[in-house]
Parts: sequence; C-alpha cells; structure tokens
Amino acid sequence: MFELNHAQQQAVEAGDGPQLILAGAGSGKTRTIVHRIGHLIAAHGTAPHRILAVTFTNKAAAELKGRLGDLIGDGGGGVMSGTFHALSLRFLRRYADALGYPKSFQVIDSDDQRTLVKRMLKLRNIASDRLHPAYLIGWIEHCKHAGLLPDQAETQMWSGIDLRELYAEYQAQLLQLERMDFSDLIVNAVRLLREIPDIAVALRARFDHVLVDEYQDTNPVQHEWLTLLCAEHHNLTVVGDDDQSIYGWRGADVRHILDFEHIWAGIAVGTHRLEENYRSTPSILKLANAVIHDNSNRHVKTLRPTRKDGIKPEWQVCNDEYDEARKIARFLNARRDQGVAWRDMAILYRSNRQSLALEQVLRQEDMPYQIIGGVGFFERLEIKDALSFWALINRCADAMHLLRIVNKPKRGIGLKGQEQVAAQLGASGMRASDWLDFLAEGHGEGAAKKLQPLAQLIVRVRAKLDQLEDYGLMTMLEETSYINSLQSFGQLEAESRLENIRTLQSYIEITMQEGVTPIEFMDRAALLQSGEEDNKDAEQSQVNLMSLHRAKGLEFDTVVLAGVEDGLLPHQRALDEGETGIAEERRLLYVGITRAENVLLLTSARQRKIFGDMHFPLPSRFIKNIAADTLHCKQANTVKMTAISHGLTVGSSVSHPSFGEGVVLELEGSGNATRVSVEFERVGLKRLMLKYAALKVKYPPK
Ligand code: ATP
Ligand code: MG
Repeated sequence: MFELNHAQQQAVEAGDGPQLILAGAGSGKTRTIVHRIGHLIAAHGTAPHRILAVTFTNKAAAELKGRLGDLIGDGGGGVMSGTFHALSLRFLRRYADALGYPKSFQVIDSDDQRTLVKRMLKLRNIASDRLHPAYLIGWIEHCKHAGLLPDQAETQMWSGIDLRELYAEYQAQLLQLERMDFSDLIVNAVRLLREIPDIAVALRARFDHVLVDEYQDTNPVQHEWLTLLCAEHHNLTVVGDDDQSIYGWRGADVRHILDFEHIWAGIAVGTHRLEENYRSTPSILKLANAVIHDNSNRHVKTLRPTRKDGIKPEWQVCNDEYDEARKIARFLNARRDQGVAWRDMAILYRSNRQSLALEQVLRQEDMPYQIIGGVGFFERLEIKDALSFWALINRCADAMHLLRIVNKPKRGIGLKGQEQVAAQLGASGMRASDWLDFLAEGHGEGAAKKLQPLAQLIVRVRAKLDQLEDYGLMTMLEETSYINSLQSFGQLEAESRLENIRTLQSYIEITMQEGVTPIEFMDRAALLQSGEEDNKDAEQSQVNLMSLHRAKGLEFDTVVLAGVEDGLLPHQRALDEGETGIAEERRLLYVGITRAENVLLLTSARQRKIFGDMHFPLPSRFIKNIAADTLHCKQANTVKMTAISHGLTVGSSVSHPSFGEGVVLELEGSGNATRVSVEFERVGLKRLMLKYAALKVKYPPK
C-alpha cells in the first residue's frame, strides 16, 4: 500500500540540507513529503514535534496528519502541521507582545477590514471615485506579500494621495484595535524572525526539519518566513510544480522554486525529479500536456503515465448555463450508475458565481452536493453577531466586537450614538470587556448609559457560566432578545439564521469539550474564514463543487470542468492583462485537468448570463485547437427557433406579470402549441404555453 518508486525513495531518504523536489502533477510529491516525515521519525529518530510541515490549506494539513497516522501510527500526531497563516498565528500568540500587540490580539476579517478602510478614507474626505477602498486594500496587500512594512514600501501617489501614509495609518488603527489582518499574520511572524534576535533564536531552535508542499505558490514574504526559520540548520524540503503555479495574483512568485538551487548560496542542494504519474489515465495526461505545452518559460518536465489507457476526455458544448448544468447532472448520474460514489466526483469552475445554476439543477435532480469555499459560515451576519456576544461573555472581545452589537437588538443607539460609544471606550483606555464591567457598575453617560442593562446582563451570565450547558451563548442571545429580533428578516430567513446559530452552538460545545480556551476558539473561527478551510463532512457522500483554485492537490475519479470559455477560462481580467495573466489561466486549466483520475468532461456554453447581461462567449482558446484524437467535442443540438416570430429565442430575457424576470431556456413545438421553458430569477424553472404566457421580451429587442 505504501510503495515508492526509486526517485521517490531517494527523495525520502535524502540527508540533511535543502532538498528540492520539482515534479509534475500526480507524480507523488505529497506522498513523498509524507514518507519523508515518516522516515525522519522512524529512521533518524527525529521527534515528531520537531518536524514542521507547511501546507496550503487546513484540509491539506489534516490530510497529511491522517496519512502520517496510517504510515507510522500515533506518532504522526505530534508533527506540527498547518498553513502559513495558522502557524504564524501560533507563533504570534506566544510572542506578539514583542511587537507591541497584546497576546490576546484578534484577527480582522475582510469584511471588517473593508469597513475600517472606508471609515478611514471618509474621515479624510477622500471620495471613492478618487481612491477606491478596494484599490487601497489591494495596494497594501501587495506590499505585505512582498514583506514590506509602511516605511519600507516605495512611495506611491494616487490622485495626489500618498498611499504609503494611508498604509501606515491603517496599521496604526489596527494596532489600536488590537487586530491583525490575514497578511499581517505572516508579515508579523517574519518580523519576529527579522527584528527580535532572542525570539528568532528560539523559533529556529524549535524545529529540526521544515517541509513545504505546493511550494510554487509561496509569495516573497512566505519565502522569507521559511528561509529565516531554517537559517540555522538549512533543513528545508520543498516540493512543487511550476506548471501549477496559480497564485501569481496573490503575489506568489514561481521563481522561488525555479531558482531554489541558487537561493542557497554555497550550500549543497539535493534536487529530485519524479517523472511518473500515478493519478490519471494516459488519455487525460495527453490532454493536460497538450494544454500546458504552449506556455513558455516553464521547466520542461517528463511525466510518464503508469496507468492503462482509459476513456478519452470529452468537451460538451451546451446552449447556456442551465443546459450545461443539466448535462453535467446527467453525466454524473451516469457515472453514479456505473458505481462511482458521489464523493469521488467534482465539478470545478473558474468563478464561484457559476455554482448558482449548478446548484439549482443539482437540487432539482436531488443529487447530494457540497460547495467548498464560497460564502463561509463564519462570514454570515448572525454568526459574526453571535461570536461578538460570545467574545464579550468570555472576556476576549475587543472594540470591534462591542461596536458590532451595540444596537443589536435595537437599544436606541443610532449611528451618532455608536460614534459616542466608540469615543468613550477609546478615551477610557480600557479593554472592551473591562469597560462594560465599568458600565455595569452604573457609570457611563449618553449612549453609553443605554448599554448598562446589556453590561449588567453580561456580568450575570458570566457569573453562572459554569452552570450553563450552552457555554453562555444561547442564554445570552435569548436574554438580549437577539433571537426574537431575527424575526424582522421574515420567518423563513429567521429560521435559517437561527439554524446557523445552533450549528455554531454545537461547534462551540464540541470545541470547548476538547479543552480549548475561548481565545483559541476565536482563532479557529478566524482561520476558518481565511479561505483555507473546508467544512467537509466526511461521513456523507456528496458531489464536490469548488473553484479551480480550491482544487489544488486534490484528486477525484470523475472531474467536470465547467465554463471552459474565453471570458471565464481564461478569465476576462487575465485577457485584459495580457500574456502573464493568460499563462496563469492556462496553468489553472492544467491543474483542473490533472485532478481527474479516470473520467474528465469539459463544458462550455454558447451563451451565459453574467451579472444580468447576456454574453455569447467563444470556446476557450486553450482547447479550441486541440486535435479530436485528444479531446472529443460534442455539440448540443441547437434548439429550433420556432417562435422567432414572437421575437423570442433561446436566451431571450423576458418578464412575466407574476413570475417576474427570466431567461428562455427552451422552445418546443410551433404556432399555437409552442411551449416555452423559462428560468425565472425568483421562482425558478417554469414551462408555459407561449400563447397564454403574456411574456414581454426584454432582450434581444424586437
Ligand atoms: P499534485 O501535483 O496534484 O499535488 P502530487 O505530485 O502531490 O500531485 P500525490 O497526490 O502525492 O501527487 O500522488 C498522486 C496519486 O498517486 C495518489 O493517489 C498517490 O497515492 C499515488 N501514488 C504516488 N506515488 C505512488 C507510487 N509510487 N505507487 C503507487 N501510487 C502512487
Ligand atoms: Mg500534491
């Protein structure tokens, strides 16, 4: 079960010092990392806790632990593994005070980050048409990916505004709020290693070996993180594939892997090439190679198939996104009939938006599915509210938590009042929880006075926390009437929000029973938001839906790549940007294709609605010239345009007096017997007699 080929074995047993494993998709890179860790423990006697494995997602870290457990038993559990973010957070929990942060600092999510920046610009009277908040955030992120602090970044002027100064101000505000953003976690961990010799020595001495998967996607600050951490022993093993570098837009720099040998000046670097692919059938690999072949600037690698030939990949051209979704559903159902489990199937797409039509159809067809990524659980409004209450009871709340629920449910504290509360809290110099205790004792004026009952309630709940089985959350939400106030969303939505809160409640219970402290719980919630989690419920078998970016490192029996069209893959943004962007999109398609073990379907649509506008995309430039012996193309029957005399065709936007706006998916029959299938935005799919349907054509114009 655990066999390795010769090259893999050599990489596993390579001695100390930097080791580079550069190899193509499915060649066993991740497997080699796992075995190398096992080897270090079993043959070299390295203690598991002195090995650090850096992965790209929390799920990959869990997977690695699982595989290690299989390989070497329980000892695998002691290996420290996680993402750059999670590991940085661990280091900072211990040492953040050296950077002027309290150790109890919290992570700000992207929503709150945006609010903070907007507020900052508003205070300076900078309108968003002069400097868009998203642009400023993007620029700051760009500096952070490069590891540049405000005083190290190059001066950048935009409409006469000094962005560097705003970056400095943003950091000052975060510090005051005792918050770090996701990129700060990594930058600040690097600062510990760069600026504080004692801590650097301690961190370096903490591990004997560091191993990194998916190294092609590290950005400069992550790269610095690794080199500083390994500066003493140089025991850094990295594995990656330059053809799978897909995070250039987040500052990842593929040169780190291509120049790895040169980066370690004067130190011998072991290099290893794995050339056999164990994952995919030769037919799938042939397509993958045909796609990636056209990219210049790549390390040409040999990738020999080891498996027997299989089914040729297919490309299905569909009429529109609903036709596409139905064809995908049919295709997956057929695989299911052939005995493939739902969990071994995946639908991958370029843009999360594409999941909408897919979800509607999968639901209609009663097919179990899960969306990995998308709007995360912890980003939901009610969950953020509930967590703020929870943090307040448990004394790990900061000003942002308090301000979030100041008027939830309504306490007559409007926007002005909230500003007053913020100002008074700021002037008090107290932490949010302490300030509330102070209010509970009867202090506070104006808007703050209105918070007294809440403050007193918190004190009461906290006093009996030991006796509360719910760890205080539900009690708090009920006694503040927060749960009642959800009714204002309407009954259905209120129920679904309450359901989410109950899910949070049981998550809290399970986690707290593990002996986790409240602040550790808040950390977990924050990391789950950073886009690195997935809430995969391993018990259930469901089709996996996710973006191509999320699919990195994974494998499935059957893979569908949806929307392989110009405008989606390559994405319009990349088309506007030019060669570099397009090359990255091509790698993204390569990543998608190489996820498939046995069966691969690519789909495209002749027309697709994007943000309400109808588009008529061309097939992706990456596949349109691929020979038929590599990729078999099937065209959907174009629907007969029988009702064209009514000014109606497939793809027309229509409106109906009671069903509202919709798009025509299908026209059948002719004359008075014409039936029309319309996907309505509000009520879903309806099949109507055209004669009686009273449809108004909105697009194309008659
Ligand atoms: P990716 O580039 O997609 O991350 P990878 O190089 O990390 O791929 P793995 O996921 O480690 O590849 O391996 C791909 C598949 O091949 C896995 O199912 C793995 O178990 C299998 N595999 C790897 N090496 C061998 C081997 N020597 N013998 C049999 N199966 C192998
Ligand atoms: Mg891998």
